[in-house]
Amino acid sequence: MNINVSGKKVLVRVDFNVPLNKQFQITDDTRIRKALPTLRHILDNGGALILMSHLGRPLKSLKEDGSINVKKFTLRHLAPHLSDLLGLPVKFASSCLGEYTRKAVSDLLPGEVLMLENTRFHEGEEKGDEAFAKEIADLGDAYVNDAFGTAHRAHASTTIVAQYFDKDHKSFGFLMEAEVENANKVLHDPQRPLVAITGGAKVSDKLLLLERLIDFADTVIIGGGMAYTFFKAQGGNIGKSICELDKLDLATDLMAKAKAKGTTLLLPKDNIAADKFSNSANRKLVDSMNIPDGWEGLDIGPESIKEFVTAIEGAKTIIWNGPMGVFEFDNFAAGTNAVAQAVADATKKGAFSLIGGGDSVAAIKKNGLDNEVSFVSTGGGAMLEYLEGKELPGIKAIKGA
Ligand code: AMP
Repeated sequence: MNINVSGKKVLVRVDFNVPLNKQFQITDDTRIRKALPTLRHILDNGGALILMSHLGRPLKSLKEDGSINVKKFTLRHLAPHLSDLLGLPVKFASSCLGEYTRKAVSDLLPGEVLMLENTRFHEGEEKGDEAFAKEIADLGDAYVNDAFGTAHRAHASTTIVAQYFDKDHKSFGFLMEAEVENANKVLHDPQRPLVAITGGAKVSDKLLLLERLIDFADTVIIGGGMAYTFFKAQGGNIGKSICELDKLDLATDLMAKAKAKGTTLLLPKDNIAADKFSNSANRKLVDSMNIPDGWEGLDIGPESIKEFVTAIEGAKTIIWNGPMGVFEFDNFAAGTNAVAQAVADATKKGAFSLIGGGDSVAAIKKNGLDNEVSFVSTGGGAMLEYLEGKELPGIKAIKGA
């Protein structure tokens, strides 16, 4: 963070979009904890914190009378826990706009913390409305963006607000810096071989990522539900496995592109198929190109695990985005678990490993290996877009074009 915060009221966009249970208790506070170094740095250097974040999608789930369900989406639920983590009182303003909030900000002293209500209670947030952004910008003397998870959205509090601060009064927070730095390690001049592991449900979600990876990785592993579209495209029988029939040509193109580029594309040779989509389904080891009718592939098989693990263990740089199967079902988690372990083992031998957000983060955590890889991203969609090579508006707004 390269700005002077002493004596300043610093408007910090954090990503406190944490999961809550029915009693509105936080079930995973990772996102709050990850923002603490930035918050502590500002407080320790004589700044005051004005925190803003979104929580859920309140305007997409209005009450029957058309009003916002404040009880469900208020950031007030988070203030006591943040207060515990910081060891400081956290004041709360029940709107990010208005007279009361301006008064609360003007009363704020160095070392104090004020949390603003959910930015998404206002239409202007997701629309990137300039008047709304200007009103929140006027609250702070400086702006810090530490919300990597929403950096791919040109929303008022993540992007537009930055235009009201000059370069000496705006900055990334430490989390944002770390996310960008670690992604850049993979994207720019990585140590080779670079092995990219992709998985998850749909090819269509990962199309741009796959194209980009085929361009610059040495090996691209494709597992999970995505793989069945590739088998179908090659004329295989895939039973009732998940498949995107309108993406068969694209799958064929990607395979041709990999061949032309000299990129090794690894698809699972064998699979564990199920007779229904359930953890208690009957299981059968099947050949990828020959899955019986009525059966669906829900995990990769032992031969594929062996091949993927060997590739991962030989890597110097690893990107992982997407599970190898329906890892939420313990009976179909073996492939994903083996990949998680192989990534951790390769890291121990000196490889750099980036877990690129979303379900692979859940999988690495489920295996208790999140501290044994080089970097676990907090931004699912944002990291995906960054790896795809897109310029994220939240990053551009701080760095300039
Ligand atoms: P994504 O968000 O695209 O990374 O997809 C993650 C989801 O894909 C997880 O919830 C997995 O359960 C699901 N998935 C992985 N493999 C399969 C498969 N073979 N069949 C159906 N769903 C799958």
